[in-house]
Amino acid sequence: TEEALNHSQRLESVGQLTGGIAHDFNNLLTVIQGNLQVLEELPVLAQDGYAQQLLAAAARATRRGAELTGKLLAFSRRQMLQPSAVDTRALLHSLADMLRRTLDQRIRIEIDTAPGCPPVVADPGQLESALLNIAINARDAMPEGGTLRFRTEPCGALPTALRGQRNEPQGDASTRFVAISIADSGTGMSEAVKERAFEPFFTTKEAGRGTGLGLSTVYGFVNQSRGAVAIDSKAGQGTTVTLYLPQQEEARPTAAPEEPTDETVPA
Ligand code: ADP
Repeated sequence: TEEALNHSQRLESVGQLTGGIAHDFNNLLTVIQGNLQVLEELPVLAQDGYAQQLLAAAARATRRGAELTGKLLAFSRRQMLQPSAVDTRALLHSLADMLRRTLDQRIRIEIDTAPGCPPVVADPGQLESALLNIAINARDAMPEGGTLRFRTEPCGALPTALRGQRNEPQGDASTRFVAISIADSGTGMSEAVKERAFEPFFTTKEAGRGTGLGLSTVYGFVNQSRGAVAIDSKAGQGTTVTLYLPQQEEARPTAAPEEPTDETVPA
C-alpha cells in the first residue's frame, strides 16, 4: 500500500511539473507553426523547392512536438472524469472495428465477452483512450503480426494482490469489478521492464517513438476511477494488461443510501 501511495504521489508531482512545461511549450509550438505556415505561403518562397522542403521538414517536426506535448498534457491533466455506466462489450466491439481498419492485417483481432456482462462506472472517453494506449503497445510488440484479444468479464472482488493499489480510503469491500483485458502474442516484457512499465517516461522504444507515458496515463486513469491495473507478461510469451473497474450495480431499493455513482473525481 505504501508503495502504491508513493507511486501515485510520484505520478502526481511529475504530472504537475510536466503539465506546466507542456502547456507553455504547446503555446510556443503554436507560434512556430503559425509562422511556418506564413513562410510557406510567402510568394518569394512559394516557388523555391529547397525552401519548401526545409519548411515542410520543420512543420513535420513541430507537429511531432505538438503530438508529444498533447500526450504530456493528457498525462498530467488532473482532468475531471465524468463517469457513467459504460457497456464494455459495445466499447470493445467499436474499438476492435476501428483497429481492424487501421492496424497491420497480420494482427488478428479477437473479442471474447461474457454475455450479460454488467456495465462499469468510468469515463467512457478516458476508458477508450486507455484501451487504445494498451492496444498500440500491443501492436508495437507484434511487428510481425500476431493476435490481439480483448476480453471483458465480471470478476467479483478485486484480486487480493491489487487491493493496495486501489485509491479507496474507505475500502468498500463489497464493490464488485469487471475485468477488461487486452492480450497480445508479442515480445512480452522482461521482469525488469515489467517492474518499471508504469513509471512515467520509462520507455524501451527508440526516441521519437515512445514517450513512456502510455501506461502511466492508464495507471492514473484507473486509479482515479477507483479501479486497478495489472500486467501479466513474460519475455517471449506475450503480454496481458487487465483493467479492473467498478461494476455498475443495479438499483437496490432496499439498500441503505449509497454514494452517488456519478460523482466526479476531484481535481
Ligand atoms: P511507450 O509505449 O511510449 O514506451 P508505455 O508507458 O506505454 O510507454 O510503455 C512502457 C514500456 O513498457 C514500453 O516501452 C515497453 O517496453 C513496455 N510495454 C508496454 N506494453 C507492452 C506490450 N504489450 N508488450 C511488450 N512490452 C510492452
